[in-house]
Amino acid sequence: MPDNNSELQDFQVFISTVLIRNKSILDQTTKLQDACTHLCRNISKASTTCGCITINASKQPYFINDEVSLGELRTLLSSHVNGKLCPSCEELISKEMGRVLFYLGAIANTFNIPLDKVLEDEKYRTSLLGEYSLR
Ligand SMILES: [Zn+2]
Repeated sequence: MPDNNSELQDFQVFISTVLIRNKSILDQTTKLQDACTHLCRNISKASTTCGCITINASKQPYFINDEVSLGELRTLLSSHVNGKLCPSCEELISKEMGRVLFYLGAIANTFNIPLDKVLEDEKYRTSLLGEYSLR
């Protein structure tokens, strides 16, 4: 790795030094799924158990025509989240995001894929289409 390590490179090195029990790719993939599940669960519980946010979902207006530009569509679409996470829910959700990144990094290490490159490649692919990537 180059001398000018990025945060992601440092994180991948850190993961390689602390990951012992979940060295198997099967453990890493299932741990990633588990972290994703807990992340989604904690988001739901912020609404259903804590109540610091409400989620009011409705059909999104996915259409582009002569009257509505892509830029205007961005303002019409909603996250469906109202309110703000309380410190406790934010901490729980941040923790699970960290676990997602940890096991993603572990998988990247197993296959010798630098997360820096993953990030750059994804940004490049998405930038080619710009707002037409419709993500
Ligand atoms: Zn909360």
